[in-house]
Amino acid sequence: MTSDLTESMLYTHFGTTSPCWRLAADSDALQLSAEDGPTMFAIGLTPEQARKIRSFNGVTTHTTIDIELFGEQQRLNLIGKRIDVTAWAGTASDYSDTQSVARDLAHGLAFAEQVVSEVNSLVVVIDHNSNIKRFNRLCEEVTGLREEDVVGRNAHAFMPTNEQAVSRAHINQFFENASAYEVERTINTLKGPRNILWRNKFVQSGSGPEERYLVCSGTDVTEERRAQARLLELANVDTLTGLPNRHAIHEKIKTALRSGKRFGVLFLDLDNFKKVNDHYGHVTGDNLIQSVARLIKSCLREDDTAARLGGDEFLILLEDNSLTAVEAIAQRILDRLKNPINLGLISVYTGCSIGIALCPENGETLDDLIRSADTAMYVAKDAGKRTYRVFSSEMNSKVAQYMWLDTNLRKALDEQQLELYYQPKLCLKTGEVRGVEALVRWNSPERGRIPPLEFIPYAEESGLIVPLGKWVLQTAAAQASLWQSQGLDIRVAVNLSARQLCDSTIVKDFSDALRTAGQLQCMIDLELTESCLIEDEGLAHGVIEQFRELGAEVHLDDFGTGYSSLSQLARLPLDVIKLDRSFISSINENRTSQALVRSMVAVAQELQFKVVAEGVETEAEAQFLNTIGVDYAQGYLYGRPMPVAEFESWFSMRKEVRLVA
Ligand code: C2E
Ligand code: CA
Ligand code: CA
Repeated sequence: MTSDLTESMLYTHFGTTSPCWRLAADSDALQLSAEDGPTMFAIGLTPEQARKIRSFNGVTTHTTIDIELFGEQQRLNLIGKRIDVTAWAGTASDYSDTQSVARDLAHGLAFAEQVVSEVNSLVVVIDHNSNIKRFNRLCEEVTGLREEDVVGRNAHAFMPTNEQAVSRAHINQFFENASAYEVERTINTLKGPRNILWRNKFVQSGSGPEERYLVCSGTDVTEERRAQARLLELANVDTLTGLPNRHAIHEKIKTALRSGKRFGVLFLDLDNFKKVNDHYGHVTGDNLIQSVARLIKSCLREDDTAARLGGDEFLILLEDNSLTAVEAIAQRILDRLKNPINLGLISVYTGCSIGIALCPENGETLDDLIRSADTAMYVAKDAGKRTYRVFSSEMNSKVAQYMWLDTNLRKALDEQQLELYYQPKLCLKTGEVRGVEALVRWNSPERGRIPPLEFIPYAEESGLIVPLGKWVLQTAAAQASLWQSQGLDIRVAVNLSARQLCDSTIVKDFSDALRTAGQLQCMIDLELTESCLIEDEGLAHGVIEQFRELGAEVHLDDFGTGYSSLSQLARLPLDVIKLDRSFISSINENRTSQALVRSMVAVAQELQFKVVAEGVETEAEAQFLNTIGVDYAQGYLYGRPMPVAEFESWFSMRKEVRLVA
């Protein structure tokens, strides 16, 4: 075989080394002609050969066929494509005529090259040694590298070291199997690392393994991955505080569990976050949470993790720790949170309650540990807040109680299981009934009569006190109106919790209750505790003024047990001070109590407040209180809290006794 043109058989018969060929869809005869001219020769192809040519699509490609031409065996190289629905066409050349084959190939492939170069996809061709053969325009654009600087270099040189080995193994394996595959790789470029998703396919250029190439066409997915990496971060971080979130700390606890080491879990809940939030609004609430998050972190060691679970709940993992160490950290957090937290113009007090669970003693799974810590936290709250508790198995019953209240108190409100009892208050000098205190009772179909101290604290914590308190106001007002209509002049005092006072609707709820009850003259008084006044004196002051304008007297309940200063007391527009019963019960045995009560009464009188003593159980107590100038008394000595009917008969008996006396 020779490349000499003059000796080329095609040249001899067609006047060109590369005649045109054409194959129709309906005939297996390959037509050969010079330069698009009329057919000069038609050769019958085997069905196999015809099928090979008909597999050409719209992109220029080539194949070889062995045919007999002019009595000689010829191997032709056909370059061409499908030209329309009926035919395939192109140019043919003698396979041995390397020059023209090369020229024709170059001609046809120039177009393919252009496509590779311009296609909107990254294209890299590498050989079986992973050396780069082609590097298209988009590759240049994305990487900032030029093709001439890249070709011949090993593709792995552009990957981070940790990905090189696996990529090398991958490529070797695929050169062996020659199957297509998809893989994502980081590529180091002049513009920094990029994530490229490659779809890799093999092409065979010749017959030997050296002529097999890997064509890698890629898409730059860097931005997509960044948005994902970011999403992952969001999925693990609490956006308000920047602390790990619930998901993240759960994972950490699971890892700690696998390590087999001892560790502690702290469940932390702020004591009066709801109040701050309701009172100052969500922005202040959020600021408080952020400050608390910082404070908590500052109490921990580097290995510990604090996470926010949402709301005002935090979970802390103390790795590799003894009980003493865990308790010390809990105490440190409590101490830090005892100080007021400055939030711009205001500073708020927010203690916290902490429950502690240790692994493995209090749980060996994530759920058990968190449940134990949560239980201990509730017990800490129940124990008066601002304290911590370590889980013990007896705690479960307390929590069961809390859960029971959670489902049943709401129901009690809806199903009218609540009832008001009335306890008389008498004038110490005259023995006249001055009024009553309304005290709520819960008649549970399941548990019988439940005293308020067993459910009011829960109602306050859960916020249920607001609807419950509204019901108390309405019921007491209706009762007072009824008595009024019967000619009975009985004032009814209602207890208000701090939580109710903070509720912006309290004044409206009160005036609505009076109006609905149709009270001619307001017969309702309100008992507030010092805790109502301590938190926001300004607010308390305003609300008290409005109550008084509506005709209510305002009584300061449990006086002497709180922390309000005398100067604060002097500023408040109060009517009555109610001495706490803890002072009264010890009055006859204890000289200090006597001195205390005497001075409290003196201060109250100085400030023009009337004084009520509650919890009066003996005649001796009543006498002492009378001599020091206490105005009214309430207690078992006169009457216990009673249901309406019982109180009414007590009241009429009392009147008769007085009339007789
Ligand atoms: P409180 O306002 O200090 O009510 C007085 C408590 O002392 C009542 O307990 C009453 O039964 C009891 N008591 C009265 N006289 C005597 C006595 O001579 N000796 C002794 N040992 N105790 C006496 P109760 O009814 O169990 O109420 C407990 C607390 O529950 C109340 O304390 C009040 O803080 C709260 N509470 C009751 N009803 C309501 C309500 O409707 N709303 C709100 N917010 N709190 C309420
Ligand atoms: Ca009271
Ligand atoms: Ca009281």
